[in-house]
Amino acid sequence: MYIQEISIDINTKVDKNELVDEFSLLLSFYRSNGQTQGRIESQFIEGEKIVCLPFTLENNSLDKKYNSYYVNNQVKKLEDICNSKLRSKLVGKSYDSYEGPCKCTKPEYYILITNYITIESPLTCGDCNKPVPLYRIPKYYDHGYMPILRWETNYVSCDNLQMNCEVGERWALNQMQEINSQLSKQGLEICKKIEELTSIPIFYYLYNYKKFKGDELRKPCPSCSKKWNLKTRLHNLYDFKCNHCKIISTISSNS
Ligand SMILES: [Zn+2]
Ligand SMILES: [Zn+2]
Repeated sequence: MYIQEISIDINTKVDKNELVDEFSLLLSFYRSNGQTQGRIESQFIEGEKIVCLPFTLENNSLDKKYNSYYVNNQVKKLEDICNSKLRSKLVGKSYDSYEGPCKCTKPEYYILITNYITIESPLTCGDCNKPVPLYRIPKYYDHGYMPILRWETNYVSCDNLQMNCEVGERWALNQMQEINSQLSKQGLEICKKIEELTSIPIFYYLYNYKKFKGDELRKPCPSCSKKWNLKTRLHNLYDFKCNHCKIISTISSNS
């Protein structure tokens, strides 16, 4: 991913603690607009300047053209409080080989998927398998994408519970692998709405751990009970895909 530096000079006698809160609010608006990735940014005061180093999917994710109503409002508020202009610049890449997110103009389909470790977009491209910055799709709700990020947080919370094993492991696992769980229902609702907004089909990734009696690849689609195994593994990851129910999965790591 790219690492950016967002900063503003403090040219007034503003209370710096108050300023930190206002700056944090700006970062949460960038996040809910899909312009920055991750949940906590490094933010610090350096003399008469406040600085933050967020991750972004594209080198120009902080471009004004992607700003939401809330981002613009908060930028103006900060600029007024500090009597200076907010600046942002690219400072580096997390990996030398990082080439950015999906650039497909009209992918055949998207996939809604995340896990406990990633901070990339939960929306990936079915064609190139790269993340899709949320600001590339029409605004989802209230000038941003918060409902999608809430599902993402819920999913990550469940994945953390099942990775840590001691507290609520089975419950969390079932939230992730049962098609009728609250988590899956929330995810499928999001898929439905993204499809309405973009006219691009979207598949919901269903976690698969439950052991199947017999040949794992013969396991039927958990929603329509039809055959859904793929002849060849897709993107070196997916083994099941039901075009009718729009769910996608992998073979169980438990078999
Ligand atoms: Zn793509
Ligand atoms: Zn199905």
